[in-house]
Amino acid sequence: MLGLLAVLVVLVNAFGRAGRWSVDGYLVTGAPTREAPRDWRCAPDSPPPALRAVVPPPPGGWPGVPQAVSVFNAFAGEVRLEYRDRAVCGRMHDARTRDSRFRAGVGMVIVPQAGNEDPVVVYWNPPPKPGWIPTIRVGAPSEVQHVDTLRLVVRTACLAVALVLAATALMAYPASRDWTFLGYALLCALSVLWQATLSGLSGYPEPWLPVAGHEQRWFVGLSSMGLGAVLCGMWLLVAGPGLASGVRRRMVLFTSGTWVAASIVAMSAPAAWMGPMAVGVELAFRMVFLLILGWALARLWKRLPGVIPALAAMVPFAVLALLELAGSRLLVEYRTEAIQLAITWFLAVSAYALNLRLGRLRRQRDEAQLLAETDPLTGLPNRRAGLRRLQEMFAAARREGTGLSVAFVDIDHFKSINDHHGHDAGDQVLVAAAQALRGAVRGASEAARMGGEEFLVLLPGVSAASAVQRMESLRSRLAARAGTLGFDGLVLTASIGVTSLRRDDTDAAALLRRADAAMYAAKRGGRDRVELAAD
Ligand code: GH3
Ligand code: MG
Ligand code: MG
Repeated sequence: MLGLLAVLVVLVNAFGRAGRWSVDGYLVTGAPTREAPRDWRCAPDSPPPALRAVVPPPPGGWPGVPQAVSVFNAFAGEVRLEYRDRAVCGRMHDARTRDSRFRAGVGMVIVPQAGNEDPVVVYWNPPPKPGWIPTIRVGAPSEVQHVDTLRLVVRTACLAVALVLAATALMAYPASRDWTFLGYALLCALSVLWQATLSGLSGYPEPWLPVAGHEQRWFVGLSSMGLGAVLCGMWLLVAGPGLASGVRRRMVLFTSGTWVAASIVAMSAPAAWMGPMAVGVELAFRMVFLLILGWALARLWKRLPGVIPALAAMVPFAVLALLELAGSRLLVEYRTEAIQLAITWFLAVSAYALNLRLGRLRRQRDEAQLLAETDPLTGLPNRRAGLRRLQEMFAAARREGTGLSVAFVDIDHFKSINDHHGHDAGDQVLVAAAQALRGAVRGASEAARMGGEEFLVLLPGVSAASAVQRMESLRSRLAARAGTLGFDGLVLTASIGVTSLRRDDTDAAALLRRADAAMYAAKRGGRDRVELAAD
């Protein structure tokens, strides 16, 4: 907070306060007179500009070189510039300013005679909010146009970033199936419309939003929607990952309902309401913003997770509000750019928080899948995972024409191990058997516990003869492990059925059936042996 105040003091001191004329090349004015132009208007469907500001020449008259005059941030309706018998007019949302040298504002180039003292007269409509006054810049054409171009670049870049973020969120949705990404994409799309209206890019390079003649309504409607969406986003960010999805959904529904209501009111209310509505929307935003900020600080105090990105997302809005309160001239002059940059920053930080969320979701999903496919006692893949791996290996062996052998392992007289040494000892034997199995295969997913004391061993690319050999060595490993467990008289043997993929096998289940049958043949043959399935 102290840091913010310091930034504010520096900015206000460096750039002065709004509302007074200055003569250093450009003017910020808050004191026009109420006077409409006498003759024609640009567009018959928009109200005539009602306020008149006079831009005087520098002391001693105009220099005898061309001067550019450009008007930025006229948020309502038509702007008209007059110098002697010349006039130029246009609207902010409408890049057809009758002079293609100006992109972000309505401008004209005058060529006064040296020492001429005729003023440039500018007309505009009352701003939608008290502090939202137009900026007039006068100076050498190249300088004025540089600022104009810079404004256009910042405005377009902010729109482009919002579009890219919306596209990225849309692409994240199919993978995550998380509605938050759709909500975020909607927020970005809304911010594109809002920024387009705010910056005049709704008409650049050709009008593409039906704003003409209704800029105030669009402005108020989209501001209330946009600010509502930003508040909702901030609330969700501060609440962090611990928020229950039901609460999240209700919050989003409530906010979208409020936006829609606000936009319906803005689109249907009398024009005279627009000013008070704009002020009311901003006031409501500030109040809710302060509440959320207080809540975020309280959560930060308690060291709850996820608050830092939320606070980072809120900082530019806090700076803007403080600059507004301080009446900063910098804000009056670069209001559109400042708001757009704050929105862009907010969207970018939200995207960062969403990506963290995506990472968390992926990790949770991976952990859930691992849990669902792992046998808790032995840590081996369980029956479901074993069967899935068998299917995959069967398909791969068919596709690539390679061999595949499968072994079914059943521990002999396991019931009596349980009966003699206890169930715990039985569990230890199962764990020891799983370790021996892991040693007999190459990959972790090539042995699985099928249930009880039965295991499946998958041997891709291994012929029947080598599979039998490897199972023989597994048998001796098992016997050796029994000695290390420390149970008196424990004998650990297994009956193992082995089979290999045949040309006429239609599915993986055929292999499994044969291996199982071979295992029973081993049991019948006296146990403690490896049996290769008969042809
Ligand atoms: P055979 O030689 O014919 O295979 O006889 P067996 O005793 O090994 O086979 P049977 O199917 O009769 O008994 C298997 C026993 O395994 C029965 C069951 O109580 C026990 N068992 C199954 N799961 C577990 C387990 O997770 N831990 C322990 N300790 N015992 C288990
Ligand atoms: Mg059994
Ligand atoms: Mg058994």
